[in-house]
Parts: sequence; C-alpha cells; structure tokens
Amino acid sequence: MATILDGREVSRIYRQKIKEEIQQITSKGRRKPSLAVVLVGNDPASQVYVNNKRKACQQVGINSLFYHLPEDTEEEKLLNLVEELNENPEVDGILVQLPLPKHINPQKVIETIRPDKDVDGFHPENMGRLIANLDGGFIPCTPLGIKILLDHYGIDVKGKDVTIVGAGYIVGKPLSVLLLNNNATITVCHIYTKDLKKHTLNADILVSATGVPHLIKEDMVKNGAVVIDVGISKVNGKIVGDVDFEKVKERASYITPVPGGVGPMTITALLMNTLKAYKMHEGIA
Ligand code: NAD
Repeated sequence: MATILDGREVSRIYRQKIKEEIQQITSKGRRKPSLAVVLVGNDPASQVYVNNKRKACQQVGINSLFYHLPEDTEEEKLLNLVEELNENPEVDGILVQLPLPKHINPQKVIETIRPDKDVDGFHPENMGRLIANLDGGFIPCTPLGIKILLDHYGIDVKGKDVTIVGAGYIVGKPLSVLLLNNNATITVCHIYTKDLKKHTLNADILVSATGVPHLIKEDMVKNGAVVIDVGISKVNGKIVGDVDFEKVKERASYITPVPGGVGPMTITALLMNTLKAYKMHEGIA
C-alpha cells in the first residue's frame, strides 16, 4: 500500500511559512505583495481555479486584484490591461487564467506579461532560464509544486528513471527540464508514443499529465514506483485524475490523490513565485 503524497498537508505547512515571512516583512512598514488575476469569460473550471488562487492569496497576506472580463473581450483590450499591470508598481505578479477564448492568442498574451511579473513562468524568457538552469526566473507552478512535494517526502530524483506522460507547455515540458536539472533520467511520452506501457513500466517515478481519465492502469506501473497524477477530469460529476488510483496505490510506494495532491501544490507554488517577485521588486534578498 502506497504512502499518500498529501498535497493539502504539505501546502498547509508551506503556506504557513509564506504567511509568516510576509508578516515579518510587512511588520516593518513595507507594502503587502500583490497578485493581479485576470479571467476572461465564464468557464466554470477556470472560475473555480481563480477563486482558489485568490482565497489562497488572502490566507497568506497577498493582495489579490481581480479583473473579470467578458468572453467577447478583444485581444487588444486584454493586452492593454496586461501592459497597464506591467507598469503598475503595486503589482508584483500577473496571472492570466488559461485557457483563453478562441479569438485570443494565448502566446501573445504570455509574451506581453513582463518576465519579472510572470509568476506562472510561461514567458519564453522564464522558460529559457529554466532550460539554462539560471536563477532569477520563475518556474511554472505545477512542476515547481511537484518538486516541492517530492522534496518534502525525501524523494530524491537524482539518477532515477522518470517517465512523464504528457508533453504540454504548462506541465510535461517544463517538468521534464526541471527534473533533468536535478539529474534525473527523463523519458517524455505523448499521444504519438508507440508503446506507452514500455516507458511507464521502466519508471522509478511516473508522472501523468494528460487529462485522460484512468489512462494509467496497474499493469503499467512498476512495483514500488512513485506515482504523480497531475490530470484533472470530470467523470459523472466527480473529479478524477489520469491514474486508476484504487488499483495503482496497491503497487506504488508513494502516490498523489486527485483531488488533494498536485492541485494544492500548484497554488502553493504560485504563492511562492509571487513572494519571490515581490522580494525582487522590493530589493529584499
Ligand atoms: P495539454 O493538452 O497541453 O497536454 C496534454 C498532453 O497529453 C499532450 O502532450 C498529449 O500528447 C498527451 N496525451 C493526450 N492523450 C494521451 C494519451 N492517450 N497517451 C499519451 N499521451 C497523451 O494539457 P496540460 O495543460 O499539460 O494539462 C494536462 C492535464 O493536467 C489536464 O487534465 C489538466 O487539467 C491538468 N492540470 C492539472 C494541474 C494541477 O494543478 N493539478 C495543473 C495544470 C494542468
């Protein structure tokens, strides 16, 4: 039976630390950190994510400014808002919730966010810094949250065979680089991978980030593997991950639940990135 990698509990611990650090800094008379969250349209899942992020900010003492724009907002109007937030010295981080409506080019929006406020870490400059393994940038929140979770449980990725299923820009790709930077041996699989099972069975650490419910079955997991489930799908009104949790947990050594695993860690990483942006802006070492 696997040990549960409890993203809620680890988040509680890290958020408490963030809260205390912010209290300590602001008690000396400095302004509070602030995150601008932009939501375009009324996608129900996005609304839930945005609310969770804003609530988490409030809990730790980060100001959250909320900009809710209608679905038919012109691209230029959104870009203008981002430019305004770029120039606002009171704003440390800018988060534009994805996905955006079809008529807006997300890449254009991402590239408009100033890299020093890009707390999602999606700007090509921050992605480049990650590949170059340079400090001073932002690592995308889900990969960063996963790394913090592994570290918390003492799971060292160095020298391990890691298979990542899903090569998306937000999770799979940056996670592969982050773990490579930490000396893991990485295999990245995707929809065109010929023999998925061959690669998953080889993994000491298996991460799935596809959004395909129950893609990862028990017979695809090596005995004693660490299993990280990033997927979020709704099946019959219930949130499920990519992993057949009930069966796979009998085989794995550690496993993340969905919900309560990677999700809260992603938000915790966002808080960390926002605090990092604030400290950079305030010149705090
Ligand atoms: P994406 O669409 O950018 O990437 C999906 C990847 O999965 C692609 O590389 C695709 O080739 C691969 N894929 C799809 N079907 C596959 C299959 N049958 N076999 C192998 N590979 C397959 O998606 P994304 O933005 O990376 O998100 C992936 C999932 O992670 C979604 O369910 C999303 O909701 C979830 N997510 C969760 C969090 C969190 O905090 N827990 C954060 C971000 C994304």
